[in-house]
Amino acid sequence: MSQCAGCGAPVGETDIACPRCQTRPSKPPAAAKWYHRRWVVLFGISPLFLGPFGLPLLWKSPGFSPRGKLVWTLITIGWTLGLIWYGAEHLVPAIRHELDQINAAYQF
Ligand SMILES: [Zn+2]
Repeated sequence: MSQCAGCGAPVGETDIACPRCQTRPSKPPAAAKWYHRRWVVLFGISPLFLGPFGLPLLWKSPGFSPRGKLVWTLITIGWTLGLIWYGAEHLVPAIRHELDQINAAYQF
């Protein structure tokens, strides 16, 4: 048995709310998980680590406001698309060039 914070009436351990005044007992704040810390999340979504695959970490973290989550999501999508564009523009032709050279080398 514990006491209601609102009216002082005894509240059972299994009661969701005080039977007299319906005040819900305040739960102790859940310990912040290490992967919800801001710098962990920001490192997680950085190009050095998970990148866009780390976004669920950002969305679940209580350390960011909805606006902050939106901004960081857009930033992450932005550089991801930038990398994809860079890859398509520069790496694919380079690989094609290499393959052409290999092909040429084997044609006698
Ligand atoms: Zn009460």
